[in-house]
Amino acid sequence: MEKRGDDYLPAAIGIDLGTTYSCVAAWKYDRIEIIPNNQGNRTTPSCVAFIDEARLIGDGAKNQATMNPVNTIFDAKRLIGRTFSDSKVQDDMKSWPFKVIEGPADTPKIVVSYKGKTKKFLAEEISSMILGKMKETAESYLGKVVKDAVITIPAYFNNSQRQATKDAGAIAGLNIISMINEPTAAAIAYGLEPFKSTKEKKKNVLVFDLGGGTFDVSILTILKGGRFEVKAVAGDTHLGGEDFDNRMVDHCVGEFKRKWGKDLIPNKKALGRLRCACEKAKRILSCDTQTSIELDCLHEGIDFSMKFSRAKFEELNMDYFDRCMKTLETCLSDAKMEISWVSDVILVGGSTRIPKIQSMLQKLFYWKELYKSLNPDEAVAYGAAVLGAKLSGISSDQRCRDLVLLDVTPLSLGVETQGERFDVVIPRNTQIPMKKSKIYVTCADNQTFEDIKVYQGERARSKDNHLLGMLKVSGIPPAPKGVAKLDVCFEIDANGILTVTIQILSTGKTTKLRITNENGRLSKEEIEKMIKDADKYKHEDEEYNKKVSAFNALEDCIYNMKKKIKNMAYSVRLNEMERVIADTIKWIENHQDASLDKVHAMKEYLESICMREF
Ligand code: AMP
Repeated sequence: MEKRGDDYLPAAIGIDLGTTYSCVAAWKYDRIEIIPNNQGNRTTPSCVAFIDEARLIGDGAKNQATMNPVNTIFDAKRLIGRTFSDSKVQDDMKSWPFKVIEGPADTPKIVVSYKGKTKKFLAEEISSMILGKMKETAESYLGKVVKDAVITIPAYFNNSQRQATKDAGAIAGLNIISMINEPTAAAIAYGLEPFKSTKEKKKNVLVFDLGGGTFDVSILTILKGGRFEVKAVAGDTHLGGEDFDNRMVDHCVGEFKRKWGKDLIPNKKALGRLRCACEKAKRILSCDTQTSIELDCLHEGIDFSMKFSRAKFEELNMDYFDRCMKTLETCLSDAKMEISWVSDVILVGGSTRIPKIQSMLQKLFYWKELYKSLNPDEAVAYGAAVLGAKLSGISSDQRCRDLVLLDVTPLSLGVETQGERFDVVIPRNTQIPMKKSKIYVTCADNQTFEDIKVYQGERARSKDNHLLGMLKVSGIPPAPKGVAKLDVCFEIDANGILTVTIQILSTGKTTKLRITNENGRLSKEEIEKMIKDADKYKHEDEEYNKKVSAFNALEDCIYNMKKKIKNMAYSVRLNEMERVIADTIKWIENHQDASLDKVHAMKEYLESICMREF
């Protein structure tokens, strides 16, 4: 067994894999550290770009997005675990500048041009690239190889989205020791301190988590001593800051058409620039009541200039804000909790900075100030790292060691009955572990077998929910319809693993199906292939970075040589040196695709000519 600790393996890192930004945290020097990336930023854009020579991840990708919109991929979290035919995917595709096509078995595939070739990626692969970047960020900060991680997911993600996220972790070379719901992670970040100055024994907290692409509400009871009991979760895996941006973009597109009679939609570059400007304006509107969007030469040489007020922003998005409040009410009612029992409302996710959201919440919880002491961008990664430290067993902190989490099933679980109806066996927000049985009867005379389909979701028609698996029950003794009885038992253990057992009551014969988070939609072989591909891309990135460094070193050398020549007294070799420098500059211009060895050789040659003089 490997010992953990500062001199050995680091504790599992915590990664908040966000729709728009990701954040990584780790346990170091007996506390949690939010780890800055190589640009010094504490959050990294969840963005991957493909250019002719290389792949860019994070800030580098986002910075060039407006110039290269069709090969800059964002929003992979909105795609992960969904089918191509999903109406949400079809809707999103209308606003994405990059191309998504239908792959085998209705999987969406993202199409890009990379190094002059067309490449197709699954959302899992794009997410794995972002996770790989977060892993590297942690490794360079900790100075150690990182293997284990706790990844956060929206509380309202279904099994398919959870499994696909886990697959992304595996492709990135991470061992995902736990997946924790984002609001629960934020509650841990909050809950480490709450009883310091009070005599209270328990607190009910509501976590309101509105990020870039997803919205979650969770109600938890935190008990003194570190027990976190989730009472209910509710949410929307497709509601967040990006939707607010889209409304602003649509409004601007409408204004442009009204004023200039021209349609911006086909111009992907212009749309990308407009989206970026709208997102910036939205952030400004969280502090100021008015701003303006100014874009030179947006389309066909036309400059775009428009004033945007906070009131207009709120009007455009009011239905979304109302939806958030409705979801919050559902969560309270599922938790069977009076609003006045909530002692703190914790704000998480960048979009909770929107003043209207805050004022709507404050109106509802008028007796209590909203809790804003947690950094909304970092709280989730922080909580995940606390869990990572606990699970790795390295933390000497009592609060960390005593942490106990009791979760709920976010979505109802059940089976398909006659007429493609979904019959719930375990309702949503049931605390786990849990075991529950229901009796079903045959629906045809002399029926000897039955296919039982297990679903997850809240819709009345089974097809509208998420299929988890199927059991074939055979050997039912022939009898008139409605006579043979099947006992369908659903059991969920503390890790969220569901086992469905079906017993034919008259014979005692049982059939079992175990649905774990282990088996994602990708096979083991597919994941292994993607790991190999990921290594190949990583190697190519390293080679590219080495080459860029070599060219930079060569240019540095030219600069230094020129400076020295300037201050030099007359020398017979001055002309030769100037000629070699000029030739090298020309060579750089024409040989951007030269091999690393060649660039090194050029530098050595230049130095050998010039150094002789110094
Ligand atoms: P997260 O997923 O928590 O990183 O949240 C990112 C989302 O928060 C993005 O849609 C951002 O545009 C949004 N956001 C960040 N800061 C602000 C702000 N000051 N006002 C409004 N939205 C913001």
